[in-house]
Amino acid sequence: MSASSRIPVIAQPFVSDRAKQTLDLVEQFVEKDCIPVEPIFRAQLGEGQQRWSTYPAIMETLKTKARQQGLWNMFLPKSHFSQGAGFSNVEYGLMAEYLGKSTIASEATNNAAPDTGNMEVLAKYGNEAQKKQWLAPLLDGKIRSAFLMTEPDIASSDATNIELDIRREGNEYVLNGSKWWSSGAGDPRCQIYLVMGKTAANNPDPYQQQSVILVPAKTPGITVHRMLTVYGYDDAPHGHGHISFKDVRVPVSNIVLGEGRGFEIIQGRLGPGRIHHAMRTIGAAEKALEWMIARINDDRKKTFGKHLSSHGVILEWVAKSRIEIDAARLIVLNAAIKIDQGDAKSALKEIAQAKVLVPQAALTVIDRAVQAYGAAGVSQDTPLAYLWALIRTLRIADGPDEVHLQQLGRRENRARKDEIVQKLQWQKEEGARLLEVSGLKSRL
Ligand SMILES: Cc1cc2nc3c(=O)[nH]c(=O)nc-3n(C[C@H](O)[C@H](O)[C@H](O)COP(=O)(O)OP(=O)(O)OC[C@H]3O[C@@H](n4cnc5c(N)ncnc54)[C@H](O)[C@@H]3O)c2cc1C
Repeated sequence: MSASSRIPVIAQPFVSDRAKQTLDLVEQFVEKDCIPVEPIFRAQLGEGQQRWSTYPAIMETLKTKARQQGLWNMFLPKSHFSQGAGFSNVEYGLMAEYLGKSTIASEATNNAAPDTGNMEVLAKYGNEAQKKQWLAPLLDGKIRSAFLMTEPDIASSDATNIELDIRREGNEYVLNGSKWWSSGAGDPRCQIYLVMGKTAANNPDPYQQQSVILVPAKTPGITVHRMLTVYGYDDAPHGHGHISFKDVRVPVSNIVLGEGRGFEIIQGRLGPGRIHHAMRTIGAAEKALEWMIARINDDRKKTFGKHLSSHGVILEWVAKSRIEIDAARLIVLNAAIKIDQGDAKSALKEIAQAKVLVPQAALTVIDRAVQAYGAAGVSQDTPLAYLWALIRTLRIADGPDEVHLQQLGRRENRARKDEIVQKLQWQKEEGARLLEVSGLKSRL
């Protein structure tokens, strides 16, 4: 069965024939060109400091193959941008699921974070000179980028806490402060940082204090101190950098959109990006389920004389995983359709639902697959341990679950409380009145 024939019924009316054909090509590219060469990619990573000064040559071969098939920049939605491959969010969402089954397919098709979000920022908010200098080579896959918001000394899930100082001096801005978890900053091809900091720390409106500014990675005064690990994985060659800025100077023309517009930019950046992460996560969960099914039918590894698949509890894991993945996919596609019909702002609730639910569902599925493999499940002999580490971070990155739940809960409560209280009160009174009229009150 091809990928296009598995599109959920609810999404089918929103997917063009061209998108269906591309979806099938993406599936084939991921399964046949990307997954088999992942060991080569890993083997081509350097040792020690070389992990951050080189990158695997196989990636360029894959990029060429992807471009030849038109599998390039599918993430940029056609409704807002002319520079992409011309798909909607729901169409690309379906493709992103397959990209999520491989650790290298997103980059091979130029759909990898954080570049995707950064390209959207530049396409949406950048001026012509910024687009020419930075967006063009990013779209071409020639350079990479990083988004620097999170800081080591403050709680960054409340972005009003951000402290990095951006001070204007004549025709320049001067930056001082620290950032960490700067994903992609370890990659030798990373040439541009999008940095969030404060241009007006004393502005009484905390949402007007921040700005986003473009800083070339090699600007004097920048020090990359170390690469952070995720449960021991360094994610080379891209990495997660811990970086400091000491009197770093850039021209005033490097500000994006204008001073005080930082919040507007990060909000615009994160909506579609969360859908991409969520759909890739669905792909990771599907991959875990595939590995689980392979293990529970392994002829060499029976317990108590039976395949694992002959034990009821294991079949229940398969069934529950199928239900949870399919339900999670519908939540994400619904959010993508809502963005397509309006914009990310009008789909805040649906995006937050997907952001919270999908990693939790996928982690449950991956954990069952790990369990089905026994000790092998936690080792390097299956992709499951790395998948778990990768997806676990999504409950923190781009804002932790708790922040999204608080906003969702607040919005749901505010929007519905008056109507619900009034309706239930009316139903109670109407029930009492009807009972009175019916003459049956004495029977209760
Ligand atoms: C793999 C990975 C990649 C990342 N990539 C990037 C990147 O490229 N660029 C970037 O800028 N950042 C990046 N981050 C950082 C990420 O966005 C932040 O870690 C996240 O926003 C949380 O901020 P914090 O770590 O400062 O946690 P804190 O803000 O200190 O929060 C700690 C914990 O407090 C709890 N909490 C917070 N708010 C509430 C609340 N309202 N109610 C109840 N509990 C609450 C949550 O459990 C939360 O996990 C990345 C993180 C990871 C793990």
